[in-house]
Amino acid sequence: MSADADCLFCKIAGGQIPADVVRESEHTLAFRDISPQAPTHVLVIPREHHRDVASLAAAAPGTLAELVREAAAVAAGEGIEAYRLVFNTGSEAGQSVFHVHGHVLGGRAMTWPPG
Ligand code: 5GP
Ligand code: ZN
Repeated sequence: MSADADCLFCKIAGGQIPADVVRESEHTLAFRDISPQAPTHVLVIPREHHRDVASLAAAAPGTLAELVREAAAVAAGEGIEAYRLVFNTGSEAGQSVFHVHGHVLGGRAMTWPPG
């Protein structure tokens, strides 16, 4: 599926809703989270609509690889060596927007296990 008319992140990818864009690549977009949980909190999304990371892996593995490379480039651009790349998958795991996004979190110490 290329776009979902009711999807918030499709609207951001399409420019209908503004976002603080950090990086763009052919198939991905990176923008700052509206409610940052760390000094660096950037979301990296595919431009195309896929509901979660497993769906993206099945449908467009090259785009998933591009998304991971872009996440690394976001961290490098922010000057952080250590970061956490999180794909919440399913509402019980904390996914609230069903357009796959990798959270790039860094700039502070991270604890384990996550909450
Ligand atoms: P999830 O809970 O699905 O893993 O992550 C969704 C993320 O999207 C949350 O961290 C939330 O703060 C962020 N978010 C929700 N709405 C918007 C928005 O309109 N703009 C931006 N930049 N981030 C958003
Ligand atoms: Zn979408």
